[in-house]
Amino acid sequence: MSNETRVQVTSYYGALTFGTEAMRQRLPKEEFKALQDTIKAGKKLPGDIAGVVAHGMKEWAMENGATHYTHWFQPMTGSTAEKHDAFLTIDRDGSVIERFSGEQLIQGEPDASSFPSGGMRSTFEARGYTAWDPTSPAFLMKGGKGLTLCIPTVFISYHGEALDEKTPLLRSMDAVSNAAIRLLETLGVSGVTKVNTYAGPEQEYFLIDKKFYTQRPDLVMCGRTLLGALPPKGQQLEDHYFGSIPDRVLEYMQEVEEELFLLGIPAKTRHNEVAPHQFELAPIFEQANIASDHNLLVMEIMRKVADKKGFALLLFEKPFAGINGSGKHNNWSIGIDGGVNLLDPGDTPESNINFLVFLIAVLKGVYKRSAVLRASVASIGNDHRLGANEAPPAVVTVFLGDLLEKVLDAIESGKVDLKTEKQILNLGLGQLPVINKDYTDRNRTSPFAFTGNKFEFRAVGSSQPVSVPNTVLNTLMAEALDDVNAEIAAKIKSGLSKDDAIQAAIREGITATKNIRYQGDNYSDDLQKAAAQRGLPNMKNTPESIRVWIEKDNVDMFVKYGVFSAEEIDSRYNIRIERYVKGIDIEARTLLLIVKTMVIPDVSEYQGDLGSSFNNLVAAAEVIGLSDEAFKSQAGHLKSLAEDLSKLIDLTAEFEETIEELEEIEGELDKADFCAATILPAMNAIRIVADKLELQVDRSRWQLPTYSEMLFEH
Ligand code: ADP
Ligand code: MG
Repeated sequence: MSNETRVQVTSYYGALTFGTEAMRQRLPKEEFKALQDTIKAGKKLPGDIAGVVAHGMKEWAMENGATHYTHWFQPMTGSTAEKHDAFLTIDRDGSVIERFSGEQLIQGEPDASSFPSGGMRSTFEARGYTAWDPTSPAFLMKGGKGLTLCIPTVFISYHGEALDEKTPLLRSMDAVSNAAIRLLETLGVSGVTKVNTYAGPEQEYFLIDKKFYTQRPDLVMCGRTLLGALPPKGQQLEDHYFGSIPDRVLEYMQEVEEELFLLGIPAKTRHNEVAPHQFELAPIFEQANIASDHNLLVMEIMRKVADKKGFALLLFEKPFAGINGSGKHNNWSIGIDGGVNLLDPGDTPESNINFLVFLIAVLKGVYKRSAVLRASVASIGNDHRLGANEAPPAVVTVFLGDLLEKVLDAIESGKVDLKTEKQILNLGLGQLPVINKDYTDRNRTSPFAFTGNKFEFRAVGSSQPVSVPNTVLNTLMAEALDDVNAEIAAKIKSGLSKDDAIQAAIREGITATKNIRYQGDNYSDDLQKAAAQRGLPNMKNTPESIRVWIEKDNVDMFVKYGVFSAEEIDSRYNIRIERYVKGIDIEARTLLLIVKTMVIPDVSEYQGDLGSSFNNLVAAAEVIGLSDEAFKSQAGHLKSLAEDLSKLIDLTAEFEETIEELEEIEGELDKADFCAATILPAMNAIRIVADKLELQVDRSRWQLPTYSEMLFEH
């Protein structure tokens, strides 16, 4: 679609997805209905209708220009995988036909051995299966000259272990749905068959000119700059945020949106972010599994369009030191399928009580499992961001806002003073107030903030798939809902009326979870002190935080809710440590390469120039009549440059040995600790000297594009 022909979005929205409309048109009535029922119930497609659905899907895909299909899935690599097969088949009589069977639709068999299994392969067969998740619509992906039919699938081993990130997410959605239904039943809301969790991931990103990107091996290999002096103008003026979007970027955004709309992905807002060249795209929230698929597609399409437009897309959490990094704000809520949002205070006493009970469950769950939640977003990139006073700290606390704070305090103390608080009305049911929905105060520093009818988990990294944090959120919520439910049941058993039991559970829940509530500035020392006083986990880096995955109590929770088996947790733990170590190893070697082949040669050359010009000066000094003082300062200049260069050379030589030491360490976790404690600080020490030199060396001799160029040239 060209820019000249602006077409109404509704006329092409979802044109490349096999959504409800396409299904209705392509499938016989009976099969259409069966498929819809399957999707609504979140169940597997019955085998006997798969053939008909596959045929309809193939016809639709081919009419739209598709020649191949692929099972599209999320292996534990942090990205997506696909292997394309043509519809093309040779018939028994030798003629060429295009075929797509029910079996091919619902099940695939990629070679599992080429994807990480975190050690499960040694105990299980290497075979893996992909199976269609009909709740996520099939879509057509453009690429090269043609289109490919992509079928969103789960990826499991021969024995049913999850080899992907989607299977656990779907399981966690089931777990939280069942727990919520049980609790709703207690609260007098019966007949609910499904409760959904929703996610709206706001995606931050950097766009820089591709010509700079390709000249920076660090960006190409690691996604971040390992060196680079800060430009005189950073983001001090904060004039970028919500500022006007440059035309070239706007065009990029428009093209991304068009592609997303074609795929039925509801991109909603776009704006500049705090840092120069940093932007954000926010979609309208969707059911968590669909939102998670869609976020992966958003990242993929953003990358493709950037490439086409001469940009490089940077999704790494902290591509530039000293400049704000990028995150993903995962807006999360829970609601009855097709109905009430359970985190919406509503305006009846009943909805208010339900809201409070679910709110208490969130507080309980996040309090009890804050370390797991933190671990769910631990990564190399996020380590640079969390706690760097620009993104939430590594401590998870919950922000509720003034109004809700007052309400909870009042309920706890038994003094709901409603006359003084205009926004709160008591409609007469016990002491529980009706809560007005207008929340205006926001705390941008909080990692987990209530924003009116949802929570916003802000510690997710910009490059991370949201499936993992949402899986953890759903699971901790399932556990907490059951916990609240059990408390209410115990109180009823001890003789309280149901209403009193519910109110008592709310009141006790408020008291028990006070420690997780924090309304202040999360970037402050006060938060760090509060965390220590309250005993809140404060894990600064990935190796430190990743350990909690395998703590027995956490494993028990995942196993109890059927989200992960103990083996699956183990495998994920292994994969994540390995990925961390590999990632830092690549960073270390890339830094070495850049320093040895670019920085040191550039500085040496410049030093040579300075040296010869100094020598010439010495030779001519008498003739010129140069004073000793002038000599001294020029000599000092050369000396300081030479000293810094020598220091850089020494540090680099030491660093080569440090990298060798890493190789000799046996256990992966020990390696990871060594990376965090030794490799990263050593890299930083090199960087400090190199950045100092960058600011002294003749620009024409410095091969690497500078921060100023990358961040301020359009
Ligand atoms: P902001 O936080 O920037 O003020 P909004 O609150 O409007 O913006 O929305 C931010 C994101 O939260 C959007 O992606 C939006 O779709 C999503 N969102 C809104 N309501 C919900 C909800 N009930 N559950 C999950 N996500 C939601
Ligand atoms: Mg937000």
